[in-house]
Amino acid sequence: MARAFNFSAGPAVLPEEVLKEAAAEMLDYDGSGMSIMEMSHRTKTFEKVLNEAEADLREIMNIPDNYKVIFVQGGATTQFAAVPMNLMSANKKAAYIETGNFSKKAFQEAKIFGNARVVASSKDKNYTYIPDCSDLLIEEDDDYVYICENNTIFGTKFHTLPNTKGKPLVSDQSSCFLSEPVDVTKYGVIYAGVQKNVGPAGLAIVIIREDLIKEDADLQFPTPTMLKWKTQIDAKSLYNTPNSWAIYICGKVFKWIKKQGGLEAMKEKNEKKAKILYDYLEKSKLFKNDVEKDSRSIMNVVFRTGSEELDAKFVAEAKEHNIVTIKGHRLVGGMRASIYNAMPIEGVEALVKFMEEFEKENA
Ligand SMILES: *Cc1c(COP(=O)(O)O)cnc(C)c1O
Repeated sequence: MARAFNFSAGPAVLPEEVLKEAAAEMLDYDGSGMSIMEMSHRTKTFEKVLNEAEADLREIMNIPDNYKVIFVQGGATTQFAAVPMNLMSANKKAAYIETGNFSKKAFQEAKIFGNARVVASSKDKNYTYIPDCSDLLIEEDDDYVYICENNTIFGTKFHTLPNTKGKPLVSDQSSCFLSEPVDVTKYGVIYAGVQKNVGPAGLAIVIIREDLIKEDADLQFPTPTMLKWKTQIDAKSLYNTPNSWAIYICGKVFKWIKKQGGLEAMKEKNEKKAKILYDYLEKSKLFKNDVEKDSRSIMNVVFRTGSEELDAKFVAEAKEHNIVTIKGHRLVGGMRASIYNAMPIEGVEALVKFMEEFEKENA
């Protein structure tokens, strides 16, 4: 049976090699006589999986020693609340940049806890661009500045980080995590739900600069134990039963990335794939991408014909060409091709070939 070209925004395509390896180990992981899923998280075997995953991630991202890494449950959305709970100090203030649905949700969550303000937004043009963030109205007692770095639904990406005027930058990297090299030292906190680019759903990875980790006495809110970053850091992500299966798969994906040549190689391949699509979209008379050129995402490429009927026809016929989950998010309609690390170039080529045929037939 052939694998589909799966353009899903998440859960999304994973490297075939990783899936095959996991399949081969399903009945007997490393001579244990069981799968990782069936194994206690307190075993030496699982601890090794977890430790290697962290070590490989640190190597791939070049994470400095003064940053902690935790693997936690509840996806990215749980971090929308964990961020203000763990970072707000006495005045409970934070600056949010609104570039789409996920940053808006994070902002609304922060408002439950304190005085979160939107200091820049691209809502005026339906989030088709990243606003200028070189001189934001950041206040002296803001605890952090928040961005969603790649906007999964709207197909935009910060290519320049905001000027936070010395405040820690918190970034939701869910849909661009490990897609290209990043300078971790520019961030206070990076977090990502892993089901977009690196693994199964239900796991988030949080990378936190040490000086931002609060002791219990400094937390401003009655914070549930599971939501305190310090709990998870002290317990090395083993406070309770972790999402061991997802950690195991992520670990394999990290090794796959290393084998491919690391994040430089990911970036090169991802840019190449995105260019094939954007180049075609620029010359197409049928399909349009509304995103401003310098704000384009290389992970999520959105496009539309302008006719809902034709969009639906495209999605239906694409399926016959083995091109699946290409429908846009319900908030924006149209189509969206998510072309994460594990999407082969052949998938993008097949998509563009089909788009060309569709354009000819429906001109
Ligand atoms: C998917 C996504 C989320 C939500 O992730 P969950 O794991 O479903 O909570 C948050 N932020 C971004 C940027 C996303 O792409």
